[in-house]
Amino acid sequence: MVTKHIFVTGGVVSSLGKGLTSASIGMLLERRGLRVRMQKLDPYINVDPGTMSPYQHGEVYVLDDGSETDLDLGHYERFTNGPLTRDSNYTTGQIYLQVIEKERRGEFLGKTVQVIPHITNEIKSVIRKLGDESVDVVITEIGGTVGDIESQPFLEAIRQFSLDVGKENCLYIHLTLVPYLKAAGELKTKPTQHSVGQLREIGIQPDVLICRCERSISREDREKIALFCNVPLEAVVEEKDKEFSIYEVPLGLVENGLDQWIVDKLSLSAAQPEMDDWHDLLHRLRNPSHEISIAVVGKYAEHFDAYKSIYEALDHAGIHHLAQIRIGRILSEDIEDDGPERLLTGFDGILVPGGFGERGIEGKIETVRFAREKGVPFLGICLGMQCAAIEFARNVVGLDGANSTEFDKDTTHPVICLLDEQQNVTEKGGTMRLGAQPAVLQEGSHAHKCYQTDYVLERHRHRYEFNSQYRQQFAAHGMHATGVSPDGKLPEILEVVDHPWFVAVQFHPEFKSKPIKAQPLFAGFIGAAIARRQKKTTDEGMTAENAPVGDGDAVIDAR
Ligand code: GLN
Repeated sequence: MVTKHIFVTGGVVSSLGKGLTSASIGMLLERRGLRVRMQKLDPYINVDPGTMSPYQHGEVYVLDDGSETDLDLGHYERFTNGPLTRDSNYTTGQIYLQVIEKERRGEFLGKTVQVIPHITNEIKSVIRKLGDESVDVVITEIGGTVGDIESQPFLEAIRQFSLDVGKENCLYIHLTLVPYLKAAGELKTKPTQHSVGQLREIGIQPDVLICRCERSISREDREKIALFCNVPLEAVVEEKDKEFSIYEVPLGLVENGLDQWIVDKLSLSAAQPEMDDWHDLLHRLRNPSHEISIAVVGKYAEHFDAYKSIYEALDHAGIHHLAQIRIGRILSEDIEDDGPERLLTGFDGILVPGGFGERGIEGKIETVRFAREKGVPFLGICLGMQCAAIEFARNVVGLDGANSTEFDKDTTHPVICLLDEQQNVTEKGGTMRLGAQPAVLQEGSHAHKCYQTDYVLERHRHRYEFNSQYRQQFAAHGMHATGVSPDGKLPEILEVVDHPWFVAVQFHPEFKSKPIKAQPLFAGFIGAAIARRQKKTTDEGMTAENAPVGDGDAVIDAR
């Protein structure tokens, strides 16, 4: 069977949830037994998001193969099972880089190199790359909004694509907004008409319109959209805001017949989607038996997308334990100003995520100290682990002024230092220690109990590492390397023995968490937090409702 291609574009405004919708479509097709590959094409000029600030771009999502990708790929991995690789995310910068390198090698044989056909050909070739005979459907999401100058070559390329592979093998899905105007008391279809108009101007007639809306769209309005946008009524699909959980999105789309419409249009033979476990997931989400609070202390606490996969992984662990998790997002600089007691007292678990740069670092170190001394379950991730090592060195081992050479090149006690392989690296993009790396776990450790195995593969993204020279000294004081690289050289997991649950990891476990399969360390962490809350409630005769949940200025999300 020829591979079918689905293209997802977005109109009217950004942040419509194109990634989530594309991931949901991928999931529904997979659950009909189809082999699906997901891909995102981003119109910005950076070669990848690895060099971009989280303020600009949110989290950088790392794949097994070490590629640094858009956070939408996190949605793809959480919803679908098809493999994601370097070929799953391209940017304008990468496409141009490839074309320019070909030009330098003389591959264009003296021709003038132009956007059409050379850039568009390169775009088509990266789409085609995913569609080998082992794949039934490739879903390609085009980043940005229709009408942006920088998306034009991508839209032109996907227009041409259907001429190359046959119209019957392509489907264009356009995600649009149908806003509710309070003053008029009605939904407005005009922005959708305009954005479809812009698509048609460049030669793309969408087959399906997915309409994001706050309120249900009447049949009359759907008819109007269908008529003006030249699509059948059944192909105008409502996607109403989900107040409860993003994991409701796929079920809403099934209800509105989207997956059936897609398989019919593409003549795919596919069974009904198997969704029982997903219904069960939502049931678990809606019926928690516990309520706990977790503090996430980082530099970008106010920026929700910066720690996206961490918040998701916490939710998954909550689903696993039937726990509703209230997340307190706390700025590490506020800990420096107000002290940890004021901001962290009452939380059942504390997590310090990854990061770069010195700002807020002392606040993170204070946070670790608070968690360690008060016996609060602690999970440190990447920079969070490095802070845990610095804190332990200073306050337990007695190494005054211990630090990472990332923050103090001349520290007398460089407990965190540059990886050997990084010594001569000067370029910033794509040069960290990246992607899946193995670690061997020590039996009896918390990590081993969580994973229930001796050997794990987790994803990394860092330049600095625990300095093995200090390993013995740390162990003598009660912080052990319970996970190490197979050659024994790099400590990847540190645990404090004399503590209910203190695990700090050099990798990013959040990237491998799924809603129906919580990542083991996150599950262990939340389990420990629940145990702490239960003990506190019994000890103090408190109910979950009247127990304090942080008394400071943390932003608390009940998710
Ligand atoms: N800045 C630290 C390093 O490069 C930690 C990186 C991270 O947290 N992803 O090693």
